[in-house]
Amino acid sequence: MAETDRMPDPSARSRAPSLRSALLLALGAGLLLPALGWLAAELALAPGAAEALQRHRAAVLLMVTVQAVAAAGLCLWLLDRRFDWPLQRLLSHLQGLLGGRPLPALQWPAGDDFAPLARQVDGLREHLATLQTQLRASDAQLHKASMLDALTGLPNRALMQELFGHEAAQARRGGRSLALLQIGLDRFRTFNDTLGHAAGDELLSGMGRRLAACVRDADFICRGAGDEFLVLLPGPDGWDRVASAAERLLRAVEEPLELAHAGHVVSLSASVGVAMYPSDGQDFEGLARAAALALDRSKSLGRGLYSFYQPGMDQALRVRIATERELSLALERDEFELHYQPVVDAAAGRVVGCEALLRWRHPRRGLLVPADFIEGARQCGLMCDIDAWVLNAACTDLAHWVGAGLQPGRLAINLSVQQARSPALSDTLRDALQRHGLSPAQLELEITEDTFLQESGGVPRALARWRALGLALTIDDFGTGYSSLSQLKTLRPERLKIDCSLVRGLPAVAEDCALAEAMLAMARALGIEVVAEGVETAAQRDWLLQRGCARQQGHWHGTPVPAPAFEAWLVRDGVAVTETAALPA
Ligand code: C2E
Ligand code: MG
Ligand code: MG
Repeated sequence: MAETDRMPDPSARSRAPSLRSALLLALGAGLLLPALGWLAAELALAPGAAEALQRHRAAVLLMVTVQAVAAAGLCLWLLDRRFDWPLQRLLSHLQGLLGGRPLPALQWPAGDDFAPLARQVDGLREHLATLQTQLRASDAQLHKASMLDALTGLPNRALMQELFGHEAAQARRGGRSLALLQIGLDRFRTFNDTLGHAAGDELLSGMGRRLAACVRDADFICRGAGDEFLVLLPGPDGWDRVASAAERLLRAVEEPLELAHAGHVVSLSASVGVAMYPSDGQDFEGLARAAALALDRSKSLGRGLYSFYQPGMDQALRVRIATERELSLALERDEFELHYQPVVDAAAGRVVGCEALLRWRHPRRGLLVPADFIEGARQCGLMCDIDAWVLNAACTDLAHWVGAGLQPGRLAINLSVQQARSPALSDTLRDALQRHGLSPAQLELEITEDTFLQESGGVPRALARWRALGLALTIDDFGTGYSSLSQLKTLRPERLKIDCSLVRGLPAVAEDCALAEAMLAMARALGIEVVAEGVETAAQRDWLLQRGCARQQGHWHGTPVPAPAFEAWLVRDGVAVTETAALPA
């Protein structure tokens, strides 16, 4: 029954004026009649009438009192009916509204004194109803937004998790499986650090669109954390289908992507980790963890690969996490060291320089190379401290060799992306040179092609500053990154280092030969010197020499060795390097 139906009927108070008139008439009559009696008794002052008069007065007094009490009661009843009932009804209606109950409009007689108030209360009811509708709509929107990733517009992990619950239940009932693919963009962090976050965001949303376009309607894609995307394939009927989906996703990422922010086209690759439900994980978290471990495996194997989860991958991850923890102690415990590898002029047979290469002498795991820990150092924010240590250690060794009358040539130091873009780098370098009594001509800095070929992220500005000090610039790993050759023309590095991966194919692989020849020709035309890295055989050395590339570095000429061994070699063999004078491994 509606709230209003239980309210007293206000139409009853329309009878109140006639009742009032009746009351007044009764009161008037009640007072007038005894008064007339009183007057008559006073006039008839006959003997013996005194007692009668006395009785009459008492009777009249009683009657008047009764009438007055009755009149007061009647008045109170009328007041209650006139004011209290409507107020009670309005109050109860308001309480209902405030309690959030859906109430119908108040039916109120138009001429009533409380009609304006009733209209206000009704207006309030309507307003509250509108607000409630809006609130429900915003609630629905918020819920939807909390399930979508703001940057890419793709569903987020929470939504994927919800959907996984339904799909897993169906798969259990039908005895089918599910595949969860975790996709990670290779080197995204380097890209983000160098090109800047705006370009990074643009890249992520572009990749998100591309990946979404290449999954089937039945598949489900979401953006996970950072540069990771997740794809759920319901009921794949065999590993082949999962593998071909993974391949398709990898190829989609590899298509060049044009970025408005960075102003050029970038080519990226991705790695994929696959976990199967229910064998690799019973719930979403377990399955996602297995996929992440498989992704980790793909990344450690190289780029552009996919891997299926296998038991035992947890152990590898545990090692990596422990490494990151131990890295922060490594600096304190002085566990880093530099190894030096000569750069030779293979035509003249002499050392023209050397490269400082970082090593970590791990207390349990032995000597580690940068691939084992640089990414971990970057992730736990230790790269700047390590960079500072490398610069100081390299300058100390160089100053010592020069002071001892040795001729190590120009010493090359590898810069991290963070260091390369740091505005403070030129001051740091100037201080280091001054402190160790070295000249800028004795040092050269190497930055990778990835780091160099950035138009934003502060690299060119920082680079111009320290080059003004007179330090030479080498582009490392040339031929492996995404190239913008116009940058070469603008920044004019002193040297390019052709990457080991290209040199490896010389002279047997025709494509590598063609690429190496093209690079040599381009560098020659631009007046840039070329160093070939990773020269391991006499055939490679000779092929390069025949094409005018005399500057070489690689195991054929000398492996990287600790500072004392390098010094001993400098003392023993001086500046001459011959085929037989290779450094000990
Ligand atoms: P990179 O600067 O290109 O260094 C050359 C790498 O090739 C070195 O690996 C070196 O040991 C290796 N190498 C030299 N000759 C040969 C050869 O004949 N065959 C093969 N297969 N490899 C050869 P390493 O020392 O493991 O360093 C790897 C990368 O780590 C370096 O590549 C450099 O990018 C980075 N790195 C090394 N030291 C530092 C450092 O002090 N700071 C920073 N930021 N990065 C460093
Ligand atoms: Mg290098
Ligand atoms: Mg290199």
